[in-house]
Amino acid sequence: MKIIFSPKCLGYDAPGHPESSERVRRTYEFLQNFKGFEFVQPEPCERQELLLVHSKTMVDEIKHDKFYNPETPALPGIYDHAKLAAGAAMLAADIASKEGKAFSLMRPPGHHAGKATFEGFCYFNNIALAVSRLLQHGKKVAILDIDVHHCNGTQEIFLGKKNVIVVSLHQFGAFFYPGTGKHSEANCYNFPLDTGTEETLYLDRFGAAMEAIENFKPDALAISAGFDTLDGDPIGGLRLSVGTYSKIAKMIAGLNLPRFAVLEGGYSEKLPECVYAFLKNF
Ligand SMILES: [Zn+2]
Repeated sequence: MKIIFSPKCLGYDAPGHPESSERVRRTYEFLQNFKGFEFVQPEPCERQELLLVHSKTMVDEIKHDKFYNPETPALPGIYDHAKLAAGAAMLAADIASKEGKAFSLMRPPGHHAGKATFEGFCYFNNIALAVSRLLQHGKKVAILDIDVHHCNGTQEIFLGKKNVIVVSLHQFGAFFYPGTGKHSEANCYNFPLDTGTEETLYLDRFGAAMEAIENFKPDALAISAGFDTLDGDPIGGLRLSVGTYSKIAKMIAGLNLPRFAVLEGGYSEKLPECVYAFLKNF
């Protein structure tokens, strides 16, 4: 399987920020220990492609580093980093349509970025950009988000749109970011989970999510793969184990659809093992 990765994505950091280059560097190095992965370099996406999803004002704000947001900071060169992560997601979609599957191991993540807003460590919405291009090509696409946080950006972008559904399983509770995703709306299916949810209940809800996807009969499946659902993740409160990601990946593979996944969150020391457990069964 092809994994989209460029060492350029390790070239920025905000001191003390959980979304660190270290988490992706260690994952990349860990995956080198196993056979069956071929690493492919991405190209940055074009400005015109960003405008498929995002407002011109937002794109320019990020381009000129003209904003203040301590959680999603204006770091030097962040525009280029964000364009490269978006290009990587688009490449993953292209490879999946030819070869069946692909994974983008890049940062920054994307699923909290909306049409005109960026937050939650996300600048451009990588999965939304990749899916928008598939929709333009007449494909019917299901998005599955397994990050511990609700994909508020992805939902805002696709709510009410034709030929696409957004299915998200996420922790939901008082004071838990971003606070959206309590109910399903139109083509967005939300599966909120209480803090402390363990594997058995999670997989039960995951089965229901798979059913929603099967009923939609998509041409392709796009996955926002966050691993901050792991028990002990410093910013998530669910209690999955490393082995849960293998089970999830098997169920996804069982749908027999062209599929691609892009890295979102995952902040524990065990991120490399989680990604491997997922990919070996994907
Ligand atoms: Zn997350």
